Amino acid sequence: MQITNLQNLVVSNLKHYFGYDSFRAQQKDIVETVLNKQDCLVIMPTGGGKSICFQLPALSFPGVTLVISPLIALMKDQVDGLNANGIKASFFNSSQSAEEQEAIMGQVVDKKLKLLYVAPESLAGLQNILKETYISCVAIDEAHCISSWGHDFRPSYQQLGFLKASLPNTPFIALTATADKATRDDILKQLQIEHAKQFISSFDRTNISLEVRPADNRVSQIVKFIRKRPNQSGIVYCLSRKATEQLAEKLANNGIKAKAYHAGLNFDERSKVQEDFIFDKTQIVCATVAFGMGIDKSNVRWVVHYNMPKNIEGYYQEIGRAGRDGLKSHALLFHSYADVIQLRNFANGTSNEEVQVAKIERMKQFAEATTCRRKILLSYFGELLAENCGNCDVCKNPPQFFDGTIIAQKALSAIYRLKETEAVGMVIDVLRGSHNAAVLDKGYTQLKTFGIGKDIAWKDWQHYIIQLINQGFCEIAFHKNNALHLTEFSKKVLFEGLKVSLTKPIEVAEIKPATRER
Ligand code: ADP
Ligand code: ZN
Repeated sequence: MQITNLQNLVVSNLKHYFGYDSFRAQQKDIVETVLNKQDCLVIMPTGGGKSICFQLPALSFPGVTLVISPLIALMKDQVDGLNANGIKASFFNSSQSAEEQEAIMGQVVDKKLKLLYVAPESLAGLQNILKETYISCVAIDEAHCISSWGHDFRPSYQQLGFLKASLPNTPFIALTATADKATRDDILKQLQIEHAKQFISSFDRTNISLEVRPADNRVSQIVKFIRKRPNQSGIVYCLSRKATEQLAEKLANNGIKAKAYHAGLNFDERSKVQEDFIFDKTQIVCATVAFGMGIDKSNVRWVVHYNMPKNIEGYYQEIGRAGRDGLKSHALLFHSYADVIQLRNFANGTSNEEVQVAKIERMKQFAEATTCRRKILLSYFGELLAENCGNCDVCKNPPQFFDGTIIAQKALSAIYRLKETEAVGMVIDVLRGSHNAAVLDKGYTQLKTFGIGKDIAWKDWQHYIIQLINQGFCEIAFHKNNALHLTEFSKKVLFEGLKVSLTKPIEVAEIKPATRER
């Protein structure tokens, strides 16, 4: 009887405070679990509706629900939103004066607050009220930040490991949009909630079509891409601040209005770009990954990655900003080897280099896939798709394999003759018999392999060599100036007649329309 009353109350609160008629998949089970004071881990894609999972139970608890959130900049908006819905909420962080902070703690003690947003580094300031008499629930948003396995590790999150000891009977709800199995396990361990019930939603965003293209002439490709999509909102993600500004300028030179956004802009400038984007005053933003965190804009129609993201979590999160309204949207990724090398360089010497490098490798495999990309993407999050998706470039335009043994032999013998000292670019120059200064300087015109690949265009050679690398017939020595090296496999091709299958380069203009809709 009591449970039913509570359930009724919860459903009426859903309507009354949030204006929703019903729960989305999983939300109901999660809310019930929290109300039963069980710990839980919620993995739900961005836009999936995680907030309700802790905001709704918070209304039914006697004490306050602490919401740990890494983004001070967004706290105010979230709290304003709740207040506007008639929910007593506040935030606690370093931007406030001591008096303000005191006042908030007073409200907690007087049980006047339902939700209190706090940055992990400000938790220490709440020490006096971290007691079960005051706190009814702890929600840890962006929980992947606690794990060095996650893509956005924040040391300040590690303090949260102590919380459970102070609040052993308080339900903890950890939420994130991005967590592979390893990160998931790590979150539970670090938060000391190993027995938490896990709710893992499907990550399949079927309305977003996926496409990867080689990064030649990126700017003109992007210009064409945008011109085909007049009046659509989109985001172009770039790796560096400078690149966002340069690209916005190049687009402007082509008559396309775009704003740059990155963490180097001051607060007002950033807010302005965000707001103009949300209210459709700016349709296109060239941004670093700083853009989009917490932006609730449903009609973003496309996301372009000018550079390759450093891992699949990041890529997935960024493309997930498209099509939140469920309408058809498009994600286009440009793939270049130069980007891979740059990402490897960034990872070089960092504390978790190995993890980062492994993640870059997975990202690269996705970009170079010759099978359904969505299958690869979802399998990364532990989700298996039974059928090919029909809504990615590989499904729409399956690569055609041909016997590439001779091509492989030519490339590998060029690498061999160059004594495994040269990177992709020079290997191709030698294959194509180019007479540029570097080639002449080094006397490469004398090599036996000089010019044996004249008949194949530069960019096609690049396409083939990347495939040879992916199939393990040669490799890039990242610590030796990115020189191409031979492998055990190379010898089989060169001396034992092993056959090599390659795919033809995809002509971007030829990509056929979808054959099957999901
Ligand atoms: P997340 O935190 O997972 O990115 P949010 O909690 O911000 O997602 O919710 C995403 C969007 O979905 C918001 O616009 C929210 O209002 C909406 N939403 C969430 N739950 C429901 C529901 N049960 N019914 C209708 N809309 C919902
Ligand atoms: Zn597919």
